[in-house]
Amino acid sequence: MSQPVVECVPNFSEGRDPVRIKAITDAIAAVAGIRLLDVDPGADTNRTVVTFVGAPEPVLEAAFQAVRTAARVLDMSTHHGAHPRMGATDVCPFVPVAGITLDQCAELARRLGERVGRELELPVYLYEHAASRPERRNLARVRKGEYEGLAEKLKDPQWAPDCGPARFDPRAGALITGARPFLIAYNVTLNSRDKAHATDIAFELREKGRVARRGQTSPFYASGRELRYQEDCFPCGNCEFDGSTFESLEVHCRESHGYDLRRLLGLNDIDASHGVAGQKAYRAGMFTHCKAIGWYVDTYKRAQLSINLTDYQVTPPEAVLEAARKLAAERGLVVTGSEIVGLVPVQALVQAGRFYLRRQGKSPFVPVPDLLENAVFSMGLADVSPFEPEKKVLGLPERPQGALVAMTCADLADEVSRDTPAPGGGSIAALAGALGAGLASMVANLGQGKGRDEALLPAAEQGQRLKDRLLLAVDEDTQAFNSYMEARRLPQASPEDKAVREARMQQGLKLAVEVPWATAQDCLQVMRAASVAMEHGNPASITDALVGLQMGHAGVRGGIWNVLINLKDITDAAFTADMEARCARLLADARALLDAGTAYGDGRLAHMLSKQSQGVQS
Ligand SMILES: [Zn+2]
Repeated sequence: MSQPVVECVPNFSEGRDPVRIKAITDAIAAVAGIRLLDVDPGADTNRTVVTFVGAPEPVLEAAFQAVRTAARVLDMSTHHGAHPRMGATDVCPFVPVAGITLDQCAELARRLGERVGRELELPVYLYEHAASRPERRNLARVRKGEYEGLAEKLKDPQWAPDCGPARFDPRAGALITGARPFLIAYNVTLNSRDKAHATDIAFELREKGRVARRGQTSPFYASGRELRYQEDCFPCGNCEFDGSTFESLEVHCRESHGYDLRRLLGLNDIDASHGVAGQKAYRAGMFTHCKAIGWYVDTYKRAQLSINLTDYQVTPPEAVLEAARKLAAERGLVVTGSEIVGLVPVQALVQAGRFYLRRQGKSPFVPVPDLLENAVFSMGLADVSPFEPEKKVLGLPERPQGALVAMTCADLADEVSRDTPAPGGGSIAALAGALGAGLASMVANLGQGKGRDEALLPAAEQGQRLKDRLLLAVDEDTQAFNSYMEARRLPQASPEDKAVREARMQQGLKLAVEVPWATAQDCLQVMRAASVAMEHGNPASITDALVGLQMGHAGVRGGIWNVLINLKDITDAAFTADMEARCARLLADARALLDAGTAYGDGRLAHMLSKQSQGVQS
């Protein structure tokens, strides 16, 4: 779960010529580590939306290669299409999927902008989360005037590009790049074929809301009569309040319902600054970052709420689903399930799974596959079509072919025993830590619901997180060692060769130190989680917690030994001295935890045995 994954969704101003489109997508796919997920050309818009994912650096490189290729093969001076656009690569957003923040994605956008400005000499604007000033956040505003107005726009100091020259390039135009949250396309299915049923619920949920009504004659909101604002009466769409002025209604909406009335009207294309008397009154929907309509899907013979969630951290799918279930029940309808269209970040389903487990009074800190399974069951994600996590979920830990953690226990033990230096002690230290973390989480989860949850829940959470991270380290340790071995095999014929080889070997050694150092630190956390689980958990599980503690200790020691053995060949004396001091401190902490935990555990076991022998005597 800690491997960072970024999605990039560039839009290119070409939707009709497959040869040019392929030139661009080939440039993307040629970058190692990139997964090209989707190429969606549109003939009417004359535009192609491409989706690819990968680790941050390869994604940044692929984005640059795509922009460069588009600038070479496309010619904006002859481009026509139904969609607004300003450049050959029109817009290029970076989207966090897993293990990376929106801020870090904005940094990728800035780096892309700088490189495009410097190497391709094209003007670049930054938008949304990467915007340099508030008025550049909105894409439509940045793109206003389009390609045809770009030459004039670049002359306006207000619209000086964020990167690159303020010079019009007739072939490539300008690039707009930025960062935005992941968009989840999510449908909720009803036990009805009536589109109006779905629409009635969708309009209650979406931020844009709906025309306000009162005096409903059935559970359906649309059965009421429409309200309008009048000179002396401004009715609230969300309750029975009537304001005598627009301003009093504005205050009421903010204070009683928590929304900005002017913004709501703006979403419905009404500019309140021009006066609203005579206009239809509006009712705000329940969720921000939520767009929704109702439709009928012939394939399923069902009406659905078709929903776009533009920031699932603010408005998660399970919250929208539960509201839809309630609104459906009030209308005599049933939500039979829901559907993810396209892809979903693993974190969204992890959060949903935890939400439902909490509601059931269960520990929310269980393995990720269990959380996904719970989310699929609770949300009815397999209702109208099968839900296959490997095809739908982005950011699941990748297990490359031949990964050590994908082996059976027996095969791994065999592999370790063969006469090759890797996998060795570093990988096994990480594996020991992962198993210890698993035991800590198990003991913490078993002890829950007995008044100790405040202490045990964090240990369960830590146990899961450390386990997932240490499992990755099992393979990382072997790879880190390999990069040093590769450097050793470099040629050493000339003095230049020798210098390059030495530098690469030193780099490889530092990497070979970083991985076991991270393992040692994580394993100390494992020992802490196991100690908490032992102290507060079920006494019957004490030996499990003790084994977890010992495994964590093996991981700390193993990690440190692997750091020390690689330090001896590192020539950077300051680095070596610093690492040695840090290792000594970590080791002292681990010893203290081991001594205290073992003494406590042995004491409890001795106490249990003495009580039993007293019982036998009496
Ligand atoms: Zn109200």
